[in-house]
Amino acid sequence: VFIAFEGGDGAGKTTQIEQLREWVLTQDREVVVTREPGGTPLGQQIRALVLHGDHVAPRAEALLFAADRAHHVATLVRPALQRGAVVLQDRYMDSSIAYQGAGRDLDPQEVQRLSLWGTEELRPHLTVMLDVTPETGRERRGEVHDRLERETDDFHERVRQHFLALAAAEAHRYLVVDAALPLSEIAEIVRDRVDEALG
Ligand code: C5P
Ligand code: MG
Repeated sequence: VFIAFEGGDGAGKTTQIEQLREWVLTQDREVVVTREPGGTPLGQQIRALVLHGDHVAPRAEALLFAADRAHHVATLVRPALQRGAVVLQDRYMDSSIAYQGAGRDLDPQEVQRLSLWGTEELRPHLTVMLDVTPETGRERRGEVHDRLERETDDFHERVRQHFLALAAAEAHRYLVVDAALPLSEIAEIVRDRVDEALG
């Protein structure tokens, strides 16, 4: 079972994944926690290139994230799913569609096609969308770590609206949660939905 976590910087994805991981383990299931970009050794190198370079042309940025994703899915995610593991993943192709599509000035549908090609159309069974406003996200993440976090609130609001649009377009495959709720409440909402998904 493939579960992706999406949402803006500072939404609390990493914290929620850790909480959910502990619960999945109590269900006697193998759980694999991973992330993009940087879930593989090659991905770590791509992550350093794309997040900490000076300037990366938008199309090159989209291709680098897509390359990280293609390698990650082929070498780590698909094998884990084939073993029957529950894969909890911090960011997936919606991040590319929203950041490189809506955030930058690329066509979101083209960015999506790139990732669908790169992953041979692997879609999550469930995407947990932690919805955070640019202001809250900025406060939560504190110190700036990378090029994307340095973008304006306006950029982050475009990303946010696109995340919400993706969720609305395929509502059955998404769980949208207000990231401003108390952490324990979010964890409970997520757990209930995943419990259902695991059957
Ligand atoms: O999730 P994490 O904060 O580690 O991601 C690193 C950065 O990469 C984030 O600032 C995020 O905005 C950016 N990112 C992106 N496009 C993606 C994936 C991540 O711009 N496809
Ligand atoms: Mg971040």
